[in-house]
Amino acid sequence: MTSSSVESVDTSGAGCKVQVKTASGMQTLECDIVLSAAGVVANIENLGLEETGIKTEKGKVVVDEFYNTSVKGYFAIGDIVGGQALAHVASAEGIICVEKIAGHKPEPLDYNNIPGCTYCSPEIASVGYTEKAAKAAGYELKIGKFPFSASGKASAAGAKDGFVKLIFDAKYGELLGAHMIGANVTEMIAEIVVARKLETTGHEIIKSVHPHPTMSEAIMEAAADAYGEVIHL
Ligand SMILES: Cc1cc2nc3c(=O)[nH]c(=O)nc-3n(C[C@H](O)[C@H](O)[C@H](O)COP(=O)(O)OP(=O)(O)OC[C@H]3O[C@@H](n4cnc5c(N)ncnc54)[C@H](O)[C@@H]3O)c2cc1C
Repeated sequence: MTSSSVESVDTSGAGCKVQVKTASGMQTLECDIVLSAAGVVANIENLGLEETGIKTEKGKVVVDEFYNTSVKGYFAIGDIVGGQALAHVASAEGIICVEKIAGHKPEPLDYNNIPGCTYCSPEIASVGYTEKAAKAAGYELKIGKFPFSASGKASAAGAKDGFVKLIFDAKYGELLGAHMIGANVTEMIAEIVVARKLETTGHEIIKSVHPHPTMSEAIMEAAADAYGEVIHL
């Protein structure tokens, strides 16, 4: 329910009665439990940041690309700094930060190549640009989409819901972003992360033979669709 807000929850009975204000008026939803997922904020209060003079902005600690705070010798990584608040991001940031402290030469993290996954059913996974963001960034696009309804493995597994959508830069063929819904897509997205890290082009994906029957074939097929070469649609 979009453009709607929860006005009250009555838990006095056996279940819960939720009053929801919608564009077309109030609605009452009856359910067993209510799960509130209203976002998180960084826990940076009462750490003594003010006394040390460590700069914060919009509730996050300000750091450079190697996680130095504004005060020499103090570092910050993870949910308390900008960037996606995800476990794999915090982990990667920690490694880069410590490697830099140890005198190695780590590359800064590419925050546009971080996979985002939602572990619902069917699963959702994405990485890189959305079509809208890529257009706003000035790219000419080639876009390919392959539905799992056309996938043999998805049919055999009874998981025909969903699709793979790939977004390419029309000029150089770089894979700018991927968006997937379906069974196992939170596993499949790793292929895209590696492809993007290696600046793989659309034709390189099309020519990378994928095993049959698999859900991952949909990636090769979506790339082929972007270039008008798809056979199995
Ligand atoms: C319900 C939930 C589900 C999530 N699911 C996923 C998921 O599926 N995938 C994913 O990638 N990410 C997920 N996340 C996000 C992920 O947990 C965080 O991005 C990640 O844990 C951030 O790591 P961090 O080290 O920055 O912070 P944390 O893991 O929160 O670690 C901070 C630590 O500091 C300690 N601490 C706090 N204040 C002090 C203090 N004053 N002194 C000493 N210690 C202190 C805390 O106790 C804690 O142990 C989820 C988060 C939540 C809340």
